[in-house]
Amino acid sequence: MLFDITHPSAWAPGVIEHVQNQLMLLIHANHCNKKDETNELNVLCGLPPRYPICNLPDCQKFKIVLNHMKGCQLGSVCKEQYCWSSKQIVTHWKACKNEKCALCSHLRSLQTKQTK
Ligand SMILES: [Zn+2]
Ligand SMILES: [Zn+2]
Ligand SMILES: [Zn+2]
Repeated sequence: MLFDITHPSAWAPGVIEHVQNQLMLLIHANHCNKKDETNELNVLCGLPPRYPICNLPDCQKFKIVLNHMKGCQLGSVCKEQYCWSSKQIVTHWKACKNEKCALCSHLRSLQTKQTK
């Protein structure tokens, strides 16, 4: 996938949806990883799992991607399908301050709703 992460507003509509979806899954998988850890800890202590098992089809895939990204130093030459694009997307997401950003604004409004 080729796109210029610094100018999301210049992307074709299809690309924005695609990248938004990927970012959503990355954020989800990150949360989900933490829930998994809590569950495993509970089970180790003989307690029932605290969170229900996640059944999002792509979640497992992106947990693997996140794991890979933590150790990967290859950058843009990495052969892992989602590695480099995900790094760019997450870096943008963390740094983006543009309230009207074509990529982030929709997700941010979703997140504010969730925390309320
Ligand atoms: Zn999940
Ligand atoms: Zn990689
Ligand atoms: Zn943005």
